[in-house]
Amino acid sequence: MLFRYFDAMKDKLPSQFLISKSLNVDFKKDSALPELWEIHDNAMWLFYEKLEGIDSIKELPPPVESSLLALKGEIADRILESCIFCERRCGANRRKKELGYCRCEAVSHYSAEFQHFGEEPELVPSHTIFFTGCNFSCVYCQNWEISTSPQSGISILPEELARIITLRRAYGSKNVNFVTPTPHTHVILKILNALKVNVPVVWNSNMYYSQEISKLLEGVVDVYLGDFRYGNDECAGKYSNAPDYLRVVTRNFKKAYTSGEILLRQLVLPGHIECCTRPIVEWTKEHIPKVRFNLMFQYRPNYRAYEYPEINRSLSPEEMRMALDIVKESGLEDVLV
Ligand code: SF4
Repeated sequence: MLFRYFDAMKDKLPSQFLISKSLNVDFKKDSALPELWEIHDNAMWLFYEKLEGIDSIKELPPPVESSLLALKGEIADRILESCIFCERRCGANRRKKELGYCRCEAVSHYSAEFQHFGEEPELVPSHTIFFTGCNFSCVYCQNWEISTSPQSGISILPEELARIITLRRAYGSKNVNFVTPTPHTHVILKILNALKVNVPVVWNSNMYYSQEISKLLEGVVDVYLGDFRYGNDECAGKYSNAPDYLRVVTRNFKKAYTSGEILLRQLVLPGHIECCTRPIVEWTKEHIPKVRFNLMFQYRPNYRAYEYPEINRSLSPEEMRMALDIVKESGLEDVLV
């Protein structure tokens, strides 16, 4: 199901961000935000026209300075002054070091970047960049040391990271994979603005970003590597403190379905087959059937899972079989287990 991704990965087609970078958009940096959005929304028509019409990377015009991608970066910079990158919509002025729920400042950090061979087969080797901080608080987080320490790690200079991405691509990476990217959208857009090489962009997230950010991601992200973990708001609230989870995540998956390609990850949680796995599979089949669906059995009770006895264990073989049966019965076509 990742047809365009494969073409971009093989340099037959340009990645979406390169198309946005080649589209000239007339905007002034001191314009009001609503005006910038209006220019952006009109320019997206041009983007889709170009995306549909381009049959080879050789047809890609050269990058321009006042581009759609630059405009997206400008809008993200403005949003940073009253942050609504994710659906928590804290309104923190991160430029003035006000902290929202994720406690990320304006300068982003990453804990590691490397060629990852443990992702889905079509992605590896995947140049994976692990950002610090997170807008969720999963009680079983396996990366809790970095997700709870947003100011740890290496501070990002966009041009420097663009240089590293270029090198990794030259050494065989199939994509650049931004992990926990949402609080860092402004920095990622700067990195892509500085990047000249063709490389598919993978947005490896919990899909809990705001509607505004989903608009900025259109024309930038090639593959949404999205977690869909909870089939109801109660479980999402209890284990990840994510209010209104289902509405937000389903909205974003539907939008991603029309603007890029989706590799959906369903991490099966112990004791959550009927309340989470089943409704997720059924919703996917009904609304976004042509996704690559990865049913994951890797759950381990990390971090504070011991405080929740019902998830303080690994999956049983019986639970794995039940989850597999649900997926088989659903008729989803492109399933990875
Ligand atoms: S990214 Fe989300 S959690 Fe973090 S400050 Fe912005 S709105 Fe709040």
